[in-house]
Amino acid sequence: MSLLLFADDIVLVAEKMLEVVYKYSTKFRFRFNREKSNVMIFGKKRGEPKFYLGESELKVIQEYKYLGVVLDENFSWKTHLRKILDKARKRTRALCGMGIREGVSVKAVLRGWEVLVRPILEYGAEIWGEKKWKEGENLQIELGRRLLGVSKMTTKQVIQGELGLGKISSRRIILRLRFWNKIIKMKKDRLVYKIYKQRREEFIKGEKKDKKNWCYWTWKHLKDLHLEHIWEKEKFEKRTNFDNLVKKALRRKDEEEWREEMEKKRKLRLYRRIKTRLVLEDYIVELDRGKRRQLTMLRGGTNYLRIERGRWLGEREEDRVCNVCLCQEVEDEKHFLLACPMYVGERAEMFARIREECELEYVESMDEEWQLNILIGIGWRGREREIRDIVIDYIRKANEIRNKYTR
Ligand SMILES: [Zn+2]
Repeated sequence: MSLLLFADDIVLVAEKMLEVVYKYSTKFRFRFNREKSNVMIFGKKRGEPKFYLGESELKVIQEYKYLGVVLDENFSWKTHLRKILDKARKRTRALCGMGIREGVSVKAVLRGWEVLVRPILEYGAEIWGEKKWKEGENLQIELGRRLLGVSKMTTKQVIQGELGLGKISSRRIILRLRFWNKIIKMKKDRLVYKIYKQRREEFIKGEKKDKKNWCYWTWKHLKDLHLEHIWEKEKFEKRTNFDNLVKKALRRKDEEEWREEMEKKRKLRLYRRIKTRLVLEDYIVELDRGKRRQLTMLRGGTNYLRIERGRWLGEREEDRVCNVCLCQEVEDEKHFLLACPMYVGERAEMFARIREECELEYVESMDEEWQLNILIGIGWRGREREIRDIVIDYIRKANEIRNKYTR
């Protein structure tokens, strides 16, 4: 048996508890496993107190695993986070290996992530979830990168965008708020409920400033989602599904933040024009690995074109001109798809096929923004798949020509 001693002001009480527990044990003749009995002190230590269980002194330990959560003296969660990250990494590797080698569908791998890996990253998140945790976030991006088969240079926001991935930190907020919703509905005599009520009172008395109070983050998250009134009243209309309300609000927040991050990245100038919603792209699910990779690279801007390669070499943007046609035009995705005269025949064929097979008459006379969106962006009403196949054909043929000139 182990005793958890919360807060430094109950040491005396705890010592008495040890005595009581020991007497109880002798009376009913069961023995403690002394090797396994430990004491842990949370918060500031005052000197080096000693604890006894009967005659034997108890060892003071620095960490303690309780219900699968590793607690440490300062509630830093470092050990806990390291342990769950390690476990989640191993599972991610196994999942990717299985998914990619055996041709399991993208949806199945994403589902595998949701049910086999993500719960590990979220273990106990109701309590520690407000921590910033880059490593956890990065693991999800790493899975996405491997799933899409794109390079390390591929921008995070593109991986997030193509797969429609929300932030891991948002998931933790959902878990915390769900837990909060459970607590406020508990019977009044439950210990958890009583502790919550007391902490809430203290939190309000302290003018809602104490970040170490569990209530702070619950209140703060709800406030950020414009749901502070729910925290205040601890009630909502009967028909409201609280979980869904929170989920939707967080989805919007994830999408907004994702868009803001994209604005900061010059490289995503094309991507943010053709991709505006944080949802899984159909082409990712429908195409085979090789083809979808081509499309991701062209859409996301991490590719073989000079606009990107030149960036890696530190060339000025206006100097990154096309080496294939020698027109002195910057070789970007637009140039490759719509302008480079070296692929004029292939392009004419592409547009002719779109006209005929997809009944899209005026595609060639539309402005470039529209054309780009039809070709590699939102597509065209109900004809997305056909257009996609035609464009992929164009990319393949144009690349064959390009390779001859750039080698
Ligand atoms: Zn060119």
